[in-house]
Amino acid sequence: MNKEKSTRRIMLNLRTLGKYTATPGNGCTRLPFTEDAYDAKEFIRFLMCDAGLKAHDDGAGNLFGVKKGKNPDLPCIMMGSHYDSVINGGNYDGIAGVVCALEVARILNEEGIELEQDFVVAAFNDEEGMRFGTGYFGSKVMLGQITPEECEKFADKDGITVAQAMKEWGLDHTKLPEYKWDLDKIGKFIEVHIEQGPVLDAQKIELGLVECIVGIQRYMVTVNGRADHAGTTPMDMRLDAVDISTKVVSKLADMARAKNDGTVATSGFFRAVPCAMNVVSGKVEFSMDIRSQNNDNIDDIVNNIKKLLDEECSKCGASYEIEQKLHITPCYLDQDMLARLEEAAKAKGYSYKRMLSGAGHDALAIGQLLPTVMVFVPSKDGRSHCPVEHTENEDFTKAVDIVIDMLKTL
Ligand SMILES: [Zn+2]
Repeated sequence: MNKEKSTRRIMLNLRTLGKYTATPGNGCTRLPFTEDAYDAKEFIRFLMCDAGLKAHDDGAGNLFGVKKGKNPDLPCIMMGSHYDSVINGGNYDGIAGVVCALEVARILNEEGIELEQDFVVAAFNDEEGMRFGTGYFGSKVMLGQITPEECEKFADKDGITVAQAMKEWGLDHTKLPEYKWDLDKIGKFIEVHIEQGPVLDAQKIELGLVECIVGIQRYMVTVNGRADHAGTTPMDMRLDAVDISTKVVSKLADMARAKNDGTVATSGFFRAVPCAMNVVSGKVEFSMDIRSQNNDNIDDIVNNIKKLLDEECSKCGASYEIEQKLHITPCYLDQDMLARLEEAAKAKGYSYKRMLSGAGHDALAIGQLLPTVMVFVPSKDGRSHCPVEHTENEDFTKAVDIVIDMLKTL
């Protein structure tokens, strides 16, 4: 392949797509079912047609472009990512994976590489869940995991439901079940994505081959103590919710560190009630977000936290509740495709590293059901979901290069 030409095309497409934002000059804000998202989708349709693909919408805001294979009855190879963004995000998260998939299709055409299977470029809608609190909406529609009822339930900050937002695009949420793909028709899924973390950039490694997208469990814990006078209540007669909670929360990060296998745990939300200087706290709410490639590690940390809560609460007669907010099991990616990508990286002399993804992606939803692989490219200083998000255009070309080499061997 002509790497210079590919790099220029990738750069130009990314720059153009970066202009479809509600916050020009302050990063990319492309929320699902907005005008900017619509325009970006239509530009991607133009790029698909220009690359000789047959483009079609699915009625949920997803866009697919098909390059016919020699044997279209075989399950297809799908490659893509999402075209929505967070608020004031960067110009690479998601959309770069769509642009790379388009570039792969172009190179297949230019070099006359004919695959047995159909090659499908996918541009998924609403992966981030930023507007409606959904997440993986487009890929889940393809997998048949979103119901019309959910579209009536989830709403944005102005109270507009997914169903209403879809209507503004002329789409009918009651038809969603029809947009599920026959999963036997998708043989493999490939996603190129920026790392969104600091590892590749810090270690000066060109490509990341993702072996596992970590499992996530999220909880909200409420500790019920008793609000009392801060001066007159003796220490042994208090039900101090902050005292209890901090004793427990302070152990969370160390529990993850002790696993020593990339497990991470975060308590990013902590609120005391009534939150006053001269009042013993009657209630504390805190969150826990625990991620690991090993589901047992997550369960273990949660159980140990519960044990600590039991101990600390029973000392003074306080109580607690713990509510699970999210439960995703780790997703192990396809070993066969990983090995082929690894061979390709070696042959081309690119430095690479097998690694975990601590963030969720369309590949997480799809990889639970279908053979899936992810390639990471370095994020400068690990920054992402912010306007300074940056990846060198050449790095995308390297990812495209090894994907092409892998496709030739499939
Ligand atoms: Zn993304």
